[in-house]
Amino acid sequence: MPQDRPGSAAVPDELNPFETAQRQCDRAARYLPGLEPGLFEFLKRPDKLITVEFPIATSSGDVRNFVGYRAVHSRVRGPGKGGIRYHPDVNPDEVRALASWMTWKCAVVDVPFGGAKGGVVCDPKKLSEEDLQHITRRFIVELNDNIGPYTDIPAPDVNTNARTMAIVYDTYEMMHKGQNNLGVVTGKPVHVGGSLGRREATSRGGLFVTRRALARGVLEGVEDVEGLTVAIQGFGNVGGIAAELFREAGARVIAVSDSRGGVHCADGLDPADATAHKAATGSVVGLPGCEQVSNEELLTLPCDLLLPSALENQLREDNARDVRARMIVELANGPSTPEADAIFAERGIPVLPDILANAGGVTVSYYEWVQNNKNEQWEEDEVNAKLERIMTKATDAVVGKREEINGSLDRLTARRRELGRGEDALDPVDLRTAAFVVAVERVARVSLDRGIWP
Ligand code: NAD
Repeated sequence: MPQDRPGSAAVPDELNPFETAQRQCDRAARYLPGLEPGLFEFLKRPDKLITVEFPIATSSGDVRNFVGYRAVHSRVRGPGKGGIRYHPDVNPDEVRALASWMTWKCAVVDVPFGGAKGGVVCDPKKLSEEDLQHITRRFIVELNDNIGPYTDIPAPDVNTNARTMAIVYDTYEMMHKGQNNLGVVTGKPVHVGGSLGRREATSRGGLFVTRRALARGVLEGVEDVEGLTVAIQGFGNVGGIAAELFREAGARVIAVSDSRGGVHCADGLDPADATAHKAATGSVVGLPGCEQVSNEELLTLPCDLLLPSALENQLREDNARDVRARMIVELANGPSTPEADAIFAERGIPVLPDILANAGGVTVSYYEWVQNNKNEQWEEDEVNAKLERIMTKATDAVVGKREEINGSLDRLTARRRELGRGEDALDPVDLRTAAFVVAVERVARVSLDRGIWP
């Protein structure tokens, strides 16, 4: 377990998301022999972590105390950008990891943001709407000027949504009257300065990436999502909308799940029915016409595409060999551990990595921020067309980088040896490492061109 950071996650290293994020970076650096080691260390480590503690007078009449975090990983390419999560398992290492994935994600899609993330340790299921609103307001007041339209810009994540973002905006606006503050947060409701298409953007971006990757031959013999079977873990903002969009694109959604369990229907289910059932009962479990499956079973159902869309560490050394999907599309952040990655590579199961596959959310967040700064409202078609272009370009960059690296392993190995960076021969890379190489190269380049201060 890491000893050098306060508040490390109380989990073994192989399930610590920050360790995972660091290992993913280290692996990419092997393929960048010319990258100066000191610069790489700087790019890899988070810039700062803020911890705040505050009380709330709850609707049940007691006073409860909460801990919140905001990590900024990098501002090399622009202001920090990243969601706010409400979950009992939020901890400093998770927030640091998520912040670093944001840096690499923004670089992969080439939007001018750095990486940040925040969270409050709480269980929204045990709190009222009013309590959550108070938590949001107090958290934002405590963060004070650590967030801002040009410094660090939050967005939705697990258990937060457009309404939460409206409260973030309103609170910040109260503290900074007389200026346009809309750009302080993205993912707002459309009538409060949000962008059309933002709600669907993460899932839509995932669909665009999947289509392009298939068109580029990532999964042998499959050229489009039409007719493919899809299993989705997590039926929230991202997973629920992905179910609708993949179905619209001609895929058959055969299973969905949430924190209470999952349902399976080999003939395909209608995501609208699952949404209605969840709205009525609080879960997709019990959806008529489907058989019940556990979350663990959902991950190992035979299907063409598995879309992990919940939390980290879902695909691990202990279950990766049982996965029967032909390809994995990571809509969640950090769903696969490095050990699972190695197993998928060995088994020939392509993984479209989180820093590419779920980058549609931050891309449309960027469009929202641009619209806010210009006082404009773009048409939804325009947003989606721009999103498709950017996701296609990013997918091409990642697939192209994988081909480039795997076609020059001998040269890269020789260069590493020449520079004294290591003696071992380099292995072929998967799409995750290729995406990290694209990202690290882009951030390093900006860092060098801006100059190491002073
Ligand atoms: P959400 O809170 O709306 O939904 C999360 C869903 O996962 C819920 O349905 C919950 O019940 C389910 N879940 C939780 N634990 C589970 C488990 N063990 N098994 C199955 N389901 C489980 O959150 P979201 O915004 O949809 O985010 C989901 C993932 O996508 C997270 O990893 C998040 O970081 C990532 N992400 C979100 C966005 C965004 O725009 N919201 C953007 C990029 C990435």
